[in-house]
This record gives sequence, C-alpha cells and structure tokens, in this order.
Amino acid sequence: MEIRNVAIIAHVDHGKTTLVDGLLKQSGTFRDNQKVAERAMDSNDLERERGITILAKCTSVEWDGYRLNIVDTPGHADFGGEVERILSMVDGVVVLVDAAEGPMPQTKFVTQKALGLGLKPIIVINKADRPDARPNEVLDECFDLLVALDANEEQLDFPVLYASAKEGWAVTDLSEPKENLHPLFDLIVRHVKAPEVNENAPFRMLVTTIESNPYLGRLLTGRVESGVLKTNDPIKGLSRKGGKIEDARATKILAFRGLERETITAARAGDIVSVAGLVRTTVADTLGTPEETEPLDAQPIDPPTISMTF
Ligand code: GDP
Repeated sequence: MEIRNVAIIAHVDHGKTTLVDGLLKQSGTFRDNQKVAERAMDSNDLERERGITILAKCTSVEWDGYRLNIVDTPGHADFGGEVERILSMVDGVVVLVDAAEGPMPQTKFVTQKALGLGLKPIIVINKADRPDARPNEVLDECFDLLVALDANEEQLDFPVLYASAKEGWAVTDLSEPKENLHPLFDLIVRHVKAPEVNENAPFRMLVTTIESNPYLGRLLTGRVESGVLKTNDPIKGLSRKGGKIEDARATKILAFRGLERETITAARAGDIVSVAGLVRTTVADTLGTPEETEPLDAQPIDPPTISMTF
C-alpha cells in the first residue's frame, strides 16, 4: 500500500481532534457501530490535564488504497529540535485554522518550521459553519502569514479547503454541496508527496518519540528512512555523534492503525512505526543495522582537545 505522511498544525481549539475523529470515521477505519471511544489525539491524561499536546502521536487511516499517517505536532515551544524531528517524518502539512479566529501564534511557530524544511502546506479553514466565520479574510491572513514566514513560490501556491470538522465536511468552494471530508482525503493523497526513501539501502530510522508501554516496555517511534526491518532483526542504537549505544533486536514492530497500533512482521521504508527491544537508545538517536555508523540527526563531534606541552 502506498503511504502518505502528513502532519497537522493547529492552534489549540481550532479543531484538530474533531477533524481527526472525522477522518477516522469517514475512512471506514471504524465500523459504523463502533464509537470513537477515545478522542484521537487527546488520549493522554497528562495532556488533557494540561490542555496541551506533549507527545507527537500518529493516527493512521486508509483511503482509496493509500495509508495516510497523520502526525500530530506539539504546539509548545521547541525543545532541542523536537518539532523539526517530528516534521522530518512527513512530506506535507495540513494547517488547520479557525475561520473566525484566523491564524494564531501556535500556528505560526510550527508553520515556520515546516516551511523551513521545505514542506508544502494545505490550508484548511475550519469551523466554516460558525455564524461569525470570515473565511475570505482568514484566507488572506493565511496567505500573509506564509509570505511573512518566507514561504517559497511553490509553498505559496497552496490548496485551500473550507471545512466543518464538527459537521464532517470539506469543500473547495463554499457554494458546493457540503457532504463529507472526501475532498480532504483526496487532497492529501494528491498534494502530499510519496515518501522519498530508499527501500534497497540498509535499514535506518531516526527515533522521534519514546514512550513506555506496560506490556512491551520502551517503544521507539519514527519513520523508516531506508530499508526493511523484520521482527527479531539485529539492530544497533547509534548516538548523534555516531557512537554505538547498544546492540539489540527488534523484538516487536508496531504500525499505526486507526487510533491503535498493530503488530507487524516487517516495517518498510516510508512507514511510521514503533520498535521495541532497545534499552538505552532514545529520542534523536538512530536505529540501524549492526554495521551502521552514520546517524540520521548527526551532531557535530566535539572539537578535539588540544593539549600542548612545552
Ligand atoms: P483541538 O484543540 O484543536 O484538538 O480542538 P477540538 O477538536 O478539541 O475542538 C475545540 C472545540 O471546537 C470543540 O468544542 C469542538 O466541538 C469545536 N469545533 C471543532 N471543529 C469545529 C467546527 O468545524 N465547527 C464548529 N462550530 N466547532 C468546532
């Protein structure tokens, strides 16, 4: 199945969770009688308590023969390149903006990072059902924002959808019938590039997030940059300076399916997966084959200390 990896960028309350719920329902990822028990990107209690998104999460839906991995982006200030690492997993971004409020600081911060990485945006003007919606002005504000953030010509040539995540529709023009979110699925498939990865090179993956699972222990999540990883393959954890952290085996590999994760036997380049079996390797480190020496998020090696004797 072909893959599209896309991140959603939104200011808090602009409707990210509602939109992802809608995409899950309309993709048929949920059976009709099955409720979205947990809200898609809001399941972490700590996050709910604080009302912010701390961890990058991924929701995966199938559409028209494609697997869409939808990555949440943290809205808070960056810690050590976290936002960039998360955005390095995707090939496009959906910038979700409230049709009444317009772009807000959180939208701006992450959008700037996405543009800097060369990602093409899709603008979704959400809550177009609001009586106080001002979709045309908000579109102008989005354009002005991208100009102010130094978007290139290709990025400024962004497609726009008007949507109501709450009512479950998206349209290219507000005069069209407001039926479903299919225009958004189609736009993601068409506008977001297929992951540019090398399936034939050795397996490599940059660890983007880490979590502790009660059954599987430490789970390292990232996008497979190249190659294929099979269950029980020997792997190496590599530091940002290229040093070996540990030799291990991929005891379990999980892919995202809807809101859940499913055990798979092989992870291919381009997909976003979680790997169990490593003890010390962490965020920003690289997983590779036992022979691997090149980290993906390399940090310059400290300059050698020169000692002089007279
Ligand atoms: P998030 O913080 O970006 O995840 O936002 P939520 O999805 O939690 O939505 C915040 C609030 O906006 C909730 O009360 C939603 O019901 C409401 N909301 C979300 N999408 C829409 C929409 O399209 N139209 C309207 N009128 N309200 C919406």
